[in-house]
Amino acid sequence: MSDGITDITIIGGGPTGLFAAFYAGLRGVSCRIVDALPQLGGQLMALYPEKYIFDVGGLPRILAKDLARNMIEQGTQFGPEVVLEAEVQQLIPEDGHIRLVTPRGEFLTKTVCITAGKGALNPRVLECPGWNEHYGETGGVHTHVRQPEDFRGKRVLIVGGGDSAVDWVLGLRGIAREVTLIHRRDEFRAHKSTVLEMREAAAAGDVTIRTPYEVKEIHGDGGCVAHVTLINSETKEEDKLDVEAVVALLGFKPDLGPISNWGLELQRNTIKVSQLMETNIPGVYAAGDVVHYPGKLELIATGYGEAAIAVNNAVHHINPKARVSPGHSTNLKVFAQEEGE
Ligand SMILES: Cc1cc2nc3c(=O)[nH]c(=O)nc-3n(C[C@H](O)[C@H](O)[C@H](O)COP(=O)(O)OP(=O)(O)OC[C@H]3O[C@@H](n4cnc5c(N)ncnc54)[C@H](O)[C@@H]3O)c2cc1C
Repeated sequence: MSDGITDITIIGGGPTGLFAAFYAGLRGVSCRIVDALPQLGGQLMALYPEKYIFDVGGLPRILAKDLARNMIEQGTQFGPEVVLEAEVQQLIPEDGHIRLVTPRGEFLTKTVCITAGKGALNPRVLECPGWNEHYGETGGVHTHVRQPEDFRGKRVLIVGGGDSAVDWVLGLRGIAREVTLIHRRDEFRAHKSTVLEMREAAAAGDVTIRTPYEVKEIHGDGGCVAHVTLINSETKEEDKLDVEAVVALLGFKPDLGPISNWGLELQRNTIKVSQLMETNIPGVYAAGDVVHYPGKLELIATGYGEAAIAVNNAVHHINPKARVSPGHSTNLKVFAQEEGE
């Protein structure tokens, strides 16, 4: 960065953004990663750090937090500047560069790679009395399971019908004193095999499933959850359940937030890109869950390929004499392993 203007600024430090940072370093351009969250890793760290991932090439099975740690090591090895807790609010194309406005200051950059995933990761919450008073680590109402050990010996109520809810019913079995799942329907959106495993665990008395139920009110004692009032969605009968923790796993609201106002061509909550991962704004590329093109799959593996395409084309945009193709890492001087070694 010779003139105070970074070559590539990556908006979003999830797996796609981290791989983009790796490629920026490999190509020898200056790079900055900006993320709204206090940590790198995107959805892997914020939503499912303790879940195993099975579909990343070369890694038969890896915990999301371990993949995130590896990606951070790989993505930051060339020393990009990392700016956390800095949601990018404005992207303003100016003469010869782009200005990014964040609560942590303004940054000038020649190109941008937007890898903002689903935007700000705001979990859905329960709209019921008692939620706000008890939400957080100390109150006992959660929207994530960060460490299963946090729930050891507790009576836990899990609310939801998707993969996260069913996975954590099974994940907390044997750790929590009691695990109860409520869902407003008797059908679950989760993977069939895990639903079957959960139903078997319920039949064995290891966990309890109650449907169709919703939480009507959360009651506390001394600032901590003590019990909840449940309501049967069909009969409207109410019931009391003693619990020390409520975990609402209801997904999160896809919301691009400020990105919707940057003049990008959008399709619902995604940015339209070309085959080169270009957006409609010159110098602004995008990759990962945030993009849309025909045939798009929202997977970590897809994001890796898109990040490589986006960054290598951004390098060519900055310096048209630079080739788009990065070459093979096995033969690159930057890794001190040239052909024949
Ligand atoms: C429960 C669950 C299980 C999953 N399991 C798998 C799996 O097994 N295999 C698989 O391939 N995929 C899986 N996925 C999907 C996978 O996690 C996503 O495809 C992947 O995280 C997308 O990476 P990304 O870097 O594009 O976006 P994200 O991981 O969403 O990261 C985007 C980052 O951008 C930041 N950001 C957003 N807006 C701004 C802004 N304006 N300014 C600054 N920062 C911003 C966010 O804070 C976030 O850190 C799973 C997802 C979930 C929810």
